[in-house]
Amino acid sequence: MNQDLQGHLIRHALLLASACLLLGLITGEYAWVLVIGLAGYVGWHLQQLRRLHKWLRTRRGDEPPPDGYGLWGEVFDSIHHLLRRDQKVRGRLQAVIDRVQESTAALKDAVIMLDRDGNLEWWNIAAEKLLGLKTPQDSGQQLTHLMRDPRFIEYFENHNYSEPLELPSPVNNRLRLQFHITQYGDREHLMLIRDITRLCQLEQMRKDFVANVSHELRTPLTVITGYLETLLDNVEAINPRWLRALQQMQQQGWRMQNLLNDLLLLAKLEATDYPSDNQPVAVDLLLLSIQNDAQALSGERRHRITLQADAHLRLKGSEAELRSAFSNLVFNAVKYTPDEGEICVRWWGDEQGAHLSVEDTGLGIEAKHLPRLTERFYRVDSSRASNTGGTGLGLAIVKHVLLRHRADLNIVSNLGKGSTFTCHFPNLQVVRRSQ
Ligand code: ADP
Repeated sequence: MNQDLQGHLIRHALLLASACLLLGLITGEYAWVLVIGLAGYVGWHLQQLRRLHKWLRTRRGDEPPPDGYGLWGEVFDSIHHLLRRDQKVRGRLQAVIDRVQESTAALKDAVIMLDRDGNLEWWNIAAEKLLGLKTPQDSGQQLTHLMRDPRFIEYFENHNYSEPLELPSPVNNRLRLQFHITQYGDREHLMLIRDITRLCQLEQMRKDFVANVSHELRTPLTVITGYLETLLDNVEAINPRWLRALQQMQQQGWRMQNLLNDLLLLAKLEATDYPSDNQPVAVDLLLLSIQNDAQALSGERRHRITLQADAHLRLKGSEAELRSAFSNLVFNAVKYTPDEGEICVRWWGDEQGAHLSVEDTGLGIEAKHLPRLTERFYRVDSSRASNTGGTGLGLAIVKHVLLRHRADLNIVSNLGKGSTFTCHFPNLQVVRRSQ
């Protein structure tokens, strides 16, 4: 209790006691005077309390407190002071919240805040335009009730948001949206949605351009290689000075044809997310035929190519695409393994799914190249690739085909000792025939 308050109380008690004594002296009824005096004192306090309560209940804005006397005056003023300070802090906080909301509302990207159960809490104007959310009807609704695309539901419920998701807008099919989700606080979600329609159009233009150029170059190249072949069919009629030049031209012509074929294949793979074919493919038979082709490719170089394949495991997908990916891996092993080296192809299954590995005892690859190996035209050593007639697109095709079959590629390599390329297919893609 502070000094002032104590002084007040003592003064009041002394005043009351002396007034009671005086009246008692005059009337001779000390007890009654004391009872009446105390009752009056308590009544006065109750009256002040009632005024305080009324003011707190009915006050508007900065309305001053009622006039109070002595102790109650001080209490009124202190409460008024506290309330004003609290109002100022609240005002400042509200201003910050308003500024944040105004700036996010003005963003072109949609921003959505969800609570821990995935219910909509707040969104900006862009979210209304891009996703068709309605204020205030949709507030508190489950987001997955409004965004019904199964790919979104699967992505949202998986809780793995390391990669963004791309989908068409639910209100306008022509708009392409990219969803970024961040978890914060108590499992609440912050969603950022960007309109990437323009980027996708540019990407599509790039793909179309490459596909068109490859297609247009095919015919002139076929004519040139055709004439070269005819010329080389009559070796006796050719001036020996030209023979080597013509042979080299033919070789480069074949290389360009392979390049165009690979570019066209990549363009075809990029056109859709999943293969249209989803029939179970007999991988063991496919690998057997690739083994024969690889042995033919090896020819005089006499590699030992072995195959161990589980005949009960089949893969859902496109046989043509899988053939292209697996043969790229096996042919690479032949190309980059010295004569008479060993190549082992294995196809097996376990509880995680099915796996294909191609192991060689070849040149190997330095660790620093491994992360970039599946990029288009990436080569460890350009002289090595031109010797083998490679296009630099083989592993890019492998990566695309695997992506379309929900599989991953894993590469382990030791320089000078050999490499192992392993494809891991999830159970979703595997069909097991009973033994
Ligand atoms: P390329 O048509 O040049 O073979 P790829 O995309 O198939 O193109 O391979 C990219 C590069 O990876 C190759 O240039 C080669 O240097 C390296 N590479 C691929 N497979 C092997 C392997 N089995 N052993 C060693 N190096 C390899």
